[in-house]
Amino acid sequence: MRTLRVDRPHAVALTDAPSPAADPEAGELLVRPRAVGLCGTDLELVDGAVDPAYVRYPLVLGHEWSGVLADGTPVVGEGIVPCGRCAACGRGATNLCATYDEIGFTRPGAAADELLVPARLVHRLAPGVDLAEAALVEPMAVVLRGLRRAAPEPGLRALVVGDGTIGLLAVHLLRLWSPAEVCLLGRRPEQAGLAAAAGADRFTLDPEEAGGGYQLVVEAAGTPEAVGTALGAAGRGGTVLLLGLAGTGRTAAFPIDELVNGDLTVRGSFAYTSEVWRETVGLLNAGEVAPGFVITHRFPLAEAAAALATLRGGAGPRGKVLLTLP
Ligand SMILES: [Zn+2]
Ligand SMILES: [Zn+2]
Repeated sequence: MRTLRVDRPHAVALTDAPSPAADPEAGELLVRPRAVGLCGTDLELVDGAVDPAYVRYPLVLGHEWSGVLADGTPVVGEGIVPCGRCAACGRGATNLCATYDEIGFTRPGAAADELLVPARLVHRLAPGVDLAEAALVEPMAVVLRGLRRAAPEPGLRALVVGDGTIGLLAVHLLRLWSPAEVCLLGRRPEQAGLAAAAGADRFTLDPEEAGGGYQLVVEAAGTPEAVGTALGAAGRGGTVLLLGLAGTGRTAAFPIDELVNGDLTVRGSFAYTSEVWRETVGLLNAGEVAPGFVITHRFPLAEAAAALATLRGGAGPRGKVLLTLP
């Protein structure tokens, strides 16, 4: 079978590999991936920029996927493989499992003709759910877990900083709280159409115009400047949710007194829990979210190099870049 393999940083290629054999005794299922989302983290895996504690080379890319089982059942699957025995797993914080293990990071990912997944992490899709759209469950679960942690009040005013896939999905999922206003502060004018499709009430490139006093600010750009902007835009008593990764070791300076006097809550959120994943699949199966708007590019697996190049930049609107498999 074909796999999109990173042998070591900067060495990525479509490579032939033996098909994996599922061990039903070990609770494994063989999945044929149909759609695989690529994201900035995949580029960081290619570039060797991910914290070494969260990666093991060589690796097969692909942590956002949908696919079908041998009997044709359409499924998605959690990427994080929790041990189920440690204290974190015991209290449901499966994202903080003592043993970090994740498909596409420390075990083979879905950018391949076949994928082995622990059966307990596989979730069935309702009939009629689009498999391309279903590949967005992973990034949606990341956003939803962060929002759950930030506990937005219904009817709130929210600002999302960052116009990439995570920022756009944050705007879309915030609609679940019937917000009074969601403003998206972006960096590229070409993203205006995607912002509108996500459900943003306003889209601007100017922090001044975005304004302040927000009850919730979601930072999804992953730069020190964006973190500063996010902290400054929160109103007194507000919450700043940090979802963007800035790169190992990067730091931001912020005005300490404004955080204290503003009574701000700053929260980071890592990945998703099994519970939030179930909730996300439920929302998609029920048609309560429609994240398909964010897909702007599709490439067959054979054109993975072009897909990665598209992800790195270029003109025009850019949301999720998907690899598709027959
Ligand atoms: Zn991702
Ligand atoms: Zn555990």
